[in-house]
Amino acid sequence: VIDIQGLSKSFGSHEVLKDINFSVNKGEVVTIIGSSGSGKSTLLRCVNLLEKPSGGKIIFNGENILDDKHDVHQYRKNLGMVFQQFNLFNNHNVIGNCVVGQVKVLKRSKEDAEKIAMKYLKVVGMDAYVNAKPRQLSGGQKQRVAIARALSMEPDVMLFDEPTSALDPEMVGEVLKVMKELAGTGLTMLIVTHEMEFAREVSDRVVFMDKGVIAEEGTPEQIFNQPAQERTKEFLKRTL
Ligand code: ATP
Ligand code: MG
Repeated sequence: VIDIQGLSKSFGSHEVLKDINFSVNKGEVVTIIGSSGSGKSTLLRCVNLLEKPSGGKIIFNGENILDDKHDVHQYRKNLGMVFQQFNLFNNHNVIGNCVVGQVKVLKRSKEDAEKIAMKYLKVVGMDAYVNAKPRQLSGGQKQRVAIARALSMEPDVMLFDEPTSALDPEMVGEVLKVMKELAGTGLTMLIVTHEMEFAREVSDRVVFMDKGVIAEEGTPEQIFNQPAQERTKEFLKRTL
């Protein structure tokens, strides 16, 4: 679905991403791991154009969406994004959070949008909380609503940037469980995570980033059990 070719990103003279090449195929779960500051979030933000890449190509369904003729808003409709900090609309209740984007961006009727929202709130186990306001929810519940909100847009690809790292430890499991279930449904997912056990279990492919480059990429078996690169071994030694 997405093919990243020679992508680079600099902030001033600081080159944060260098010649990044990788792809995410339909139905695949790809996780990105790596040390703090290695460029994982920047890469994800480039993929959904929250940051403008300095160079390279992002091929989506066969077209380079960095060409000027491409409409950023049109492209973004194909991507769902889940952030570390939930970013729920605090003035909307749970179902409202899952409905607004559908109505505003996808021009769905409120009735259709509510039906679709309910479907995904059930998927994440939050259908009993439709009328709750975000402030009444735990972190894990908020993140599950944020996932339902992104799913309600029925994107081709779901992007996750450390969805559990702002959560209290006892709530990490419920969010990872939902993500594992989604991975099992054939959803296309690109996930930045520090949860190595989770990455090992759900990934079709693991991408290890180090200092702005992809140092190594492979199956979970390859990356976690037989890493080829010294820096991958060192990173795993520090984190496992
Ligand atoms: P973490 O695991 O801590 O989330 P990360 O791998 O996501 O780290 P990034 O947030 O992508 O790392 O940051 C990569 C580098 O880019 C860092 O050196 C960071 O300081 C720099 N950087 C990120 N965003 C900006 C920005 N808007 N302006 C300047 N520098 C930035
Ligand atoms: Mg980050």
